Amino acid sequence: MSSVSWRPRPRVVDAAVIGCGIVGLSTAFQLQRRGLSCLLIDPRGPAGDASHGNAGAVSVGNLMPASDPAMAWPALRGLRDPLAPFKLDAGAWPHYAAWLWRFLRAGQPPRIAAIVDATHALNHAARAAWLDLAGAIGALDLISPTGYLHVYSQDASFERAAIARTQMQRHGVAFDVLDGAQLRELEPGLAPFARHGVLQRDSLFVQEPGEFCRRLFNWLCARGTDTLIASARVIEREGEGYRVGTSGGDVHADQVVVAAGAWSGELLRSFGLRLPVAAARGYHAMYPRQEGVVRRPTLWAERYMVVSPMRSGVRVTGFKEMTAPGRPARPGLIRGLAPQARQLFPALAGEPVSDWAGLRPCTPDSLPILDRVEGERIFIATGHGHLGLTQGPISGELTARSMMGEGSPVPLAPYRLARFGGAARA
Ligand SMILES: Cc1cc2nc3c(=O)[nH]c(=O)nc-3n(C[C@H](O)[C@H](O)[C@H](O)COP(=O)(O)OP(=O)(O)OC[C@H]3O[C@@H](n4cnc5c(N)ncnc54)[C@H](O)[C@@H]3O)c2cc1C
Repeated sequence: MSSVSWRPRPRVVDAAVIGCGIVGLSTAFQLQRRGLSCLLIDPRGPAGDASHGNAGAVSVGNLMPASDPAMAWPALRGLRDPLAPFKLDAGAWPHYAAWLWRFLRAGQPPRIAAIVDATHALNHAARAAWLDLAGAIGALDLISPTGYLHVYSQDASFERAAIARTQMQRHGVAFDVLDGAQLRELEPGLAPFARHGVLQRDSLFVQEPGEFCRRLFNWLCARGTDTLIASARVIEREGEGYRVGTSGGDVHADQVVVAAGAWSGELLRSFGLRLPVAAARGYHAMYPRQEGVVRRPTLWAERYMVVSPMRSGVRVTGFKEMTAPGRPARPGLIRGLAPQARQLFPALAGEPVSDWAGLRPCTPDSLPILDRVEGERIFIATGHGHLGLTQGPISGELTARSMMGEGSPVPLAPYRLARFGGAARA
């Protein structure tokens, strides 16, 4: 694992990027490529949250929003089942009650078609953006072309997911449908109850997402990007640019990028904005490194649990717990992951050596917010939910292009904050 190097902060920069997850780091990479001086601000350094602990899938074929009724209603009905993936943190109810209402409305059929198209537009460009970024920083060794496998233990849920396959077909996403025998040929360690599979052939696997972010961070620092380990507290106009007040002092920037994941909303309140971004906590447990158990990220669709062969060990990720930043994680949920992982891959050996919890920044319609605050040079890049690793590098490129006034290869209208109407105003 590479170590992290810090440089002293400057007082004045072209661009301050708030948040060192995959989205903020990818944006800084693109800005540096375009010759801007950049300051990265994060109290936890690179990959301090979701960008560290995810399942590692650059899942170009995941096109359906989480509000798809085929997923959302079974998830809500399963709330009492301790093994079901969807959870509500009752103590944080005021933070996501209105969000849940908008989430269900985003599941209406006419809306879904538009969301799928906009998701595909980003995912389609995501693979090339990943390979470009990894190649530029010399980190292709962390990327494998394994594809992303979804497995189903029940015929009914496989049938319900037919719409997702239709959408992949409609958009020309490469995938194979596999029966039980074909599944075990591809992943010999899978339990016999895995009856159906779908392999997204062009999806990539980032073998250690946190390590990738740290390498990207160090690469940026070595080429002049400055860093500040501090929490951004306020953004205010100052002369021609902005004062970013942080726990480590003030900086002045001509432009500001807010890429602070689930924490982004607070920073924009003073500009009259309310981001409809809810925090959905996910968990992982790490098993010791072992050969031959699993070859690629493999999602057990009914459990929404992914088993991934990371470099440092086998990672089992799961759960989507609606909560709020600052609320405590529930270690009991992680303990629930272990028996399920062994059910899916019976040869998985040993006990978890570490565990983790982090927040997905989720919008009601599962599309990110890539926008500019009206009349300001403040740019928003957050809300990537379940697809932030996939879409991080392309979002960084699109954000940098907006900042530089360059044309966009992906039309940005579907990702504008204005789609939420009055709900986006504080
Ligand atoms: C269990 C799990 C599995 C997942 N699996 C996948 C997957 O396989 N594929 C996929 O595409 N996506 C996956 N995701 C989603 C993906 O990880 C996230 O969408 C993505 O990492 C979000 O990136 P980000 O840069 O927006 O936010 P983050 O990675 O959360 O980074 C935000 C950063 O902002 C910093 N910050 C917060 N407040 C401030 C402040 N005031 N000042 C400065 N900095 C601040 C934080 O410290 C943090 O480092 C998964 C997520 C989880 C939780």
